[in-house]
This record gives sequence, structure tokens and C-alpha cells, in this order.
Amino acid sequence: MNPVIQAQGLERDFVMGDTVVRALRGVDLRIDPGEYVAIIGPSGSGKTTLMNLIGCLDTPTAGWYVLDGEKVSAMDDDSLSHVRNEKIGFIFQTFNLLPRATALDNVALPLVYADASRKERRAAARRALERVEMADRTDHRPDQLSGGQRQRVAIARALVTRPAIVLADEPTANLDHKTGEGILQLMRMFNEQLLTTFIFPTHDQKVLDFADHYIGIEDGRVR
Ligand code: ADP
Ligand code: MG
Repeated sequence: MNPVIQAQGLERDFVMGDTVVRALRGVDLRIDPGEYVAIIGPSGSGKTTLMNLIGCLDTPTAGWYVLDGEKVSAMDDDSLSHVRNEKIGFIFQTFNLLPRATALDNVALPLVYADASRKERRAAARRALERVEMADRTDHRPDQLSGGQRQRVAIARALVTRPAIVLADEPTANLDHKTGEGILQLMRMFNEQLLTTFIFPTHDQKVLDFADHYIGIEDGRVR
């Protein structure tokens, strides 16, 4: 099986005036399709920097990165945003839904970049909302939904393009314990049903228990 993610020697330096912060100091990765991968490490260890590189939101100072067969470490910004739209779903701590748009329009949005009619986009969004058990909330705006419901809409949005990987940045941080558990179970279910690769930083021991593998980061290195 070809890995969905392969990277070698990833470095990321941030220049701050006279000093250089070496946030990543040579990280190698290999993640296979369908894996459920947790990233763990103390605050400041480089988790977010690594997530941003994996998510094509940032480019490495050194090293190479291949995502789903595409060498993204050498791409310009336009090509990167294309790869992001096509291959990656994002789930955020703060949900990041458009406040004035309905659940259906929020979920249909990533398909604007795909080659699909408005009718097809809305039909796909409706199906995605059904899968997260939000079929009866398609016309609600985010402020008319609970936190858990918003995160379900965000999960539907992340999956609607059938991405190769989903990156979830502490998706339960703003939810109560029970709601958070439901969200994690839903993510795991989609991981198993759709064979979508999930990658996320977490401190939650329960999540670690059912991850396929975890990547421990310390001081910019995999330990
Ligand atoms: P984590 O997510 O594990 O808490 P980060 O990846 O956010 O860690 O940060 C790793 C290191 O890089 C920290 O020392 C942080 O201060 C630094 N860093 C992260 N982003 C930037 C940035 N945009 N500019 C300067 N320094 C940064
Ligand atoms: Mg972080």
C-alpha cells in the first residue's frame, strides 16, 4: 500500500528579529490510508506547526512532503490551495462555520471548487448532513445550533468532498465531556466506514487508546 502521507526531514524555522525559533527540527512521517493517528506532545513542542504543514497551510523550511502522490513541499500558494480543497478536510476547535449561512450552505461550500452543479452540491451536502444525523437541521444557522450540533455540521463539511485526509485540531476542546465523546465516536465511525485517514493532536487518553498509531512530538522532533 502506498502511504497517503510521506515526509522526510521536515524543518520549520520562524525568524523573530535576531532569533530563529526552530519549531520543527527534522521530522519523518509515514501514514497509511485509513489510519487514525493521534499527535501528542507538550505545549510548544511543534504539534500545530506540524499540522499546518500536513494541512498545506504552511510550507517547510527544509525537507520534503508527499500527500496522496503529490509532492506538495515544492508547490506555490495557488497549487497548495488547490490540493487543500481537493484532498483535505479540516475540523476546528471553534467549528469555524459561516455564521450567516445555513447548515446546508456551510456543508455545500467546499464543493464550490469541485466540478458540480448547485443542485448536485446541495444534494451531496444533504446526504452528508444525514450521515451526521442532522437531516432535520439543514436550514438552521450556526447560532441556532448547540456546540455538538455545530461540530456535526463541521464534520459533514470536512467529509463532503471525500478528502484523502481529515485534520482535526482538538475538535472536542469546546464541548462538554459527553458531547465530545459523541464527536470522537462519530469521527472514528467515518474513519472505519469511509477509510478516510484522520490525524489530530490530542491530550485525551481515551482517544490514544483507540488510535491506530500516535506520533509523539517533543522539542520539534518525533520521539
Ligand atoms: P504546539 O502546537 O505543540 O503547542 P507550536 O507548533 O504552536 O506548538 O509551536 C512550536 C514552537 O514554535 C513554539 O516555540 C512556538 O512559540 C513557535 N512558533 C509557532 N508558530 C510560530 C510563528 N508563527 N512565529 C514564531 N514562532 C512560532
Ligand atoms: Mg498547538
